[in-house]
Amino acid sequence: MTALCRQLAIDGGEPVRSRMLPYGRQTVTENDIASVVEALRSDWLTTGPRVAEFEREFAAAVGAAHAVAVSSGTAALHATTRVLDIGPGDEVIVPAITFVATANAVVYEGGTPVFADVDPATLLLDPAGVEECVTDRTRAIVAVDYAGQPCDYDALSEIAERHGLALVSDACHSLGGAHKGRPVGTLADMSVFSLHPVKPITTGEGGVITTDDEAMAARMRRFRNHGINSDHRSREATGTWAYDQEELGFNYRITDIQCALGISQLSGLTARTDRMQEIAASYREAFATVEGVEPLALLPDVRHAYHLFVIRLDAATLGVDRGRVFEALRAEGIGVNVHYRPVYLNSFYEARFGARPGLCPAAEAAYAEILSLPIFTTMTDSDVADVIDAVDKVTRSYREGRD
Ligand SMILES: *Cc1c(COP(=O)(O)O)cnc(C)c1O
Repeated sequence: MTALCRQLAIDGGEPVRSRMLPYGRQTVTENDIASVVEALRSDWLTTGPRVAEFEREFAAAVGAAHAVAVSSGTAALHATTRVLDIGPGDEVIVPAITFVATANAVVYEGGTPVFADVDPATLLLDPAGVEECVTDRTRAIVAVDYAGQPCDYDALSEIAERHGLALVSDACHSLGGAHKGRPVGTLADMSVFSLHPVKPITTGEGGVITTDDEAMAARMRRFRNHGINSDHRSREATGTWAYDQEELGFNYRITDIQCALGISQLSGLTARTDRMQEIAASYREAFATVEGVEPLALLPDVRHAYHLFVIRLDAATLGVDRGRVFEALRAEGIGVNVHYRPVYLNSFYEARFGARPGLCPAAEAAYAEILSLPIFTTMTDSDVADVIDAVDKVTRSYREGRD
């Protein structure tokens, strides 16, 4: 090692930061807090007017006709597999690299998730790979806007149309993004959002589905309320006690307290996406000259929402694998993470569907190399500089100590 190399914190050196910088974090403003307090003082804590108001504002923000708000992104995904009437024998194509909830929503309804490989440059569904997975049992494609980058919806819509399949966008990472000028939320038959604290906007827990299909929206509202055809407030308004449960639903309702937070959070969305792009641009510029570190590629003409900033680490160049870099960066106070292990490698999927390593080679190769760096709106420029400094320090040290 040369004298220029600083001793790594993992080897007993001085860490870049003394306090761990997390990979993601919510932004909650004083206006958000005031909005929630107002809801707490109102007549309705749940099934009240703030739910419909949040739905209207969310739909308007993405340019969709309807938005249905539910208790989580997972519940939102489940609502889509229900209204598509997915059942035993039906196959739904999902990407190998996503959060497990994308595939679980198919399994909840008795369907079979079919894992399609991803494009190694972007880790988004590879349209050619999707085409290979289509059989006469295929009913739908769920595209995941991994890390916040919208998929190639032109190519995916064309495949879906040609085979008569539904197209669902798992947009849990990409609220605020766009593909060829069209906002995320309008790019598929239904688009699903998560409102978990690390996601683009938050309600603590929560989820939303957007669609232009009025019948689907109505059925999802019934599904989130046990399958009952009216809610408490509408019965109050019409002075009736009678209701009918028309299908087996769940209590997937979101509260007015959460929607009060959501309404307030929506107003900060554009500024948030702009800040994420600014941080990402600093990372891309800095890592362009760091050997062995490769940010994921950008598709042409997208607005990337940057829920995650993902780099790939080349073990041959660095002389160490991703696991070692992960530990070294955490020792430097940089809260790196890994998103995600290919879903089918989870023991549940191996046991239930007999999935085995080797199914999606590009996803498995990527999984060995990916690392998510901290990115969130309230990171300061000095936090960003610390991440860049730590990545440079760690990778330089391993490159120079190689052999
Ligand atoms: C977060 C997430 C979900 C699930 O959302 P929850 O609100 O946590 O239930 C689903 N899909 C993807 C891609 C996610 O990142």
